[in-house]
Amino acid sequence: MQEFHAERARTLLNNAEEIFDGAAVQAAVRQVADKLNARFDRLDNAAFPLVLGVMGGAVVFTGNLLPQLRFPLEFDYIHVSRYGDDDQGGNVVWKVIPRPSVAGRIIIVLDDILDEGETLAQVKQRLLDMGAAEVVIAVFADKALKRSKPVKADIVGLSIPNKFVVGFGMDVYGYWRNLPGLWAIRPEDLKQR
Ligand code: 5GP
Ligand code: MG
Ligand code: MG
Repeated sequence: MQEFHAERARTLLNNAEEIFDGAAVQAAVRQVADKLNARFDRLDNAAFPLVLGVMGGAVVFTGNLLPQLRFPLEFDYIHVSRYGDDDQGGNVVWKVIPRPSVAGRIIIVLDDILDEGETLAQVKQRLLDMGAAEVVIAVFADKALKRSKPVKADIVGLSIPNKFVVGFGMDVYGYWRNLPGLWAIRPEDLKQR
């Protein structure tokens, strides 16, 4: 898509609805941190988990969450994208695979949003294939879908309606990842693209 510009990004946002403001988003991140802290605080230091942020959507969630975690952890990122140049469907493409050793470890995967679940299902399977002892999935947002997903999140920040959202790391063609709240784009606006 060559013809997507800042002006178009502005129009989409003008018509969008803010479904969670910045304060609600931060409260949700705190809840995720509380749950992870409760679960991993008591771990033996030798068993510290490997936290993997799924780029690029999880970058903001990850950056807000990590300073609130209070147990020893190793952090790295993986890069997987599904939607590519389209907002619907598409294959899961691995751009950066897990690098630190995964075998025998507890892995916490952080992602922006669980939509159809194809991305996280493949991420989880790959980590298990690499010998992970356990894969814990924490997502900032979980989208309500009628049909069942191939994977479940263990920890969810916000449950959101089945709408295309931007903000807090989530983009439309690279735009609006910087918004502190979560905005739902009008479906009719996405069709015109
Ligand atoms: P899934 O495989 O679960 O359908 O797709 C997950 C990935 O697609 C997410 O990690 C995210 O990068 C992208 N995605 C899914 N739903 C949305 C959405 O509503 N808005 C944006 N900006 N990205 C989404
Ligand atoms: Mg993603
Ligand atoms: Mg995207």
